[in-house]
Amino acid sequence: MRLVMKFGGVSVADGKGFRKVGTIVHKYHERGDQIAVVTSAMHSVTNSLIDAASQAGRGRKDHVRRYVDDLTERHRKACEDAIENREILDKIQHVVTSTCDDLRNILLGIAHIGELTPRSRDYVIGFGERLAAPVLQGVFEDMGMKAKALTGGEAGIVTDDNFGAAQPLMNMTTLQVRQNLGPIMEDGTIPIVSGFIAQTQESIQTTIGRGGSDYTASIIGASIRSDEVLVWKDVDGLMTANPKIVKNAKMIDSISFPEAMELAHFGAEIIHPKALECAAKYQLPFRVKSLADPDRPGSTIVSEVKVKDGDVVKAITNIDDVDLITVCGASMVGTPRLPAKVLQILTDEDIDVLMISQSSSEESITLAIPKESGSRAQNALELSLLGSKQVREVNIETALSIVAVVGAGMKGTPGVAARVFATMAKENINIRAIAQGSSELNISCIIKKKDAAKAVNALHDDFELGV
Ligand code: ASP
Ligand code: MG
Repeated sequence: MRLVMKFGGVSVADGKGFRKVGTIVHKYHERGDQIAVVTSAMHSVTNSLIDAASQAGRGRKDHVRRYVDDLTERHRKACEDAIENREILDKIQHVVTSTCDDLRNILLGIAHIGELTPRSRDYVIGFGERLAAPVLQGVFEDMGMKAKALTGGEAGIVTDDNFGAAQPLMNMTTLQVRQNLGPIMEDGTIPIVSGFIAQTQESIQTTIGRGGSDYTASIIGASIRSDEVLVWKDVDGLMTANPKIVKNAKMIDSISFPEAMELAHFGAEIIHPKALECAAKYQLPFRVKSLADPDRPGSTIVSEVKVKDGDVVKAITNIDDVDLITVCGASMVGTPRLPAKVLQILTDEDIDVLMISQSSSEESITLAIPKESGSRAQNALELSLLGSKQVREVNIETALSIVAVVGAGMKGTPGVAARVFATMAKENINIRAIAQGSSELNISCIIKKKDAAKAVNALHDDFELGV
């Protein structure tokens, strides 16, 4: 089999983690699989690089020096704990030290001019992945495997120059990655690609968005036409509900890409939505695997899952800490431009809208907004709309949650919404707003935050999702 294996920051948090990754990969390698590995930065390193970049932008040279010393030490220590062979250890520690020297020079350069551009910021924040890949190379070599660390750009991933959230140019990328990685893999060498980073056609380093290593795994998988992408996680797999809330939550064996995307959107993000979107397009199956229990089959995410009779709902999810904003005014009736305007105002403020619903009387539009942006959203809407006469007031209600029922089997199955409402009524839970996407993959309700756990448990029971 041809496999891509993706390891996140938690799996490479320290030397022990790196070694564990080696053990997992070794098993598949022995079995005769051709493997490409994608790695994230060590746990929390990307956040610390983002901070260091902005400190440098403010000219704080001492801070930068201390930071890079610590980062060097953390990676050298991980090497020491994970690599036994002296020669390999020296080689990799040398790579770590010189990569960190490079980072120090760049940060000091930024601090010297006191200016951080989007381009130099992307260069800095990609260092976490650039450091993790050689450490894994050393571990694999130490365990007797042939391995080669590559940056995303070296692997062949080309993007536009939208720094911070660069878009891969897939035609060129798939061709180049296949050309670059194919021969290495056929020779039995394991390419270890730094996730998250790529480069423009002019070889300028870019990043593809926070949490982007999953996306890198999809891009690599699509390019080398891998049979599966295995994403190794500190969870068992995708669950029918958050196990912290629902004691008898069960692992989902198999789920479709659109369903997994709904789950990601409604608070249960296991794999980055961009990675899922890319995998769906290239019909590339994903599998979530447990780091703690590598022999478990995990959950698969595939293009299509046969819906079994009666199996309408796959999972219940919830997003806590939501505010509800209602824009009301009788003269809104029949004014089609207003909803567009409301959304534009929020987009301009960079505010994420989780859910929208408009009553058919058109007297109000209700929007669910993450708590952090609630009052900012209310202010922006009031400032722009209150003078317009169409709008009478902009209200806000806080301490709410969204509870969503997700499943492809709901499509065309009448009565699911009625069942959801009946369950809520039985539990005496008041529903503040409701929305169903036209995809019919989810029904979401807004309720008081204090009722969320009760609602999730009741729905989970009613749809018989538990073990
Ligand atoms: N290290 C990057 C981040 O923290 C990418 C990733 O981990 O997926 O956003
Ligand atoms: Mg992630």
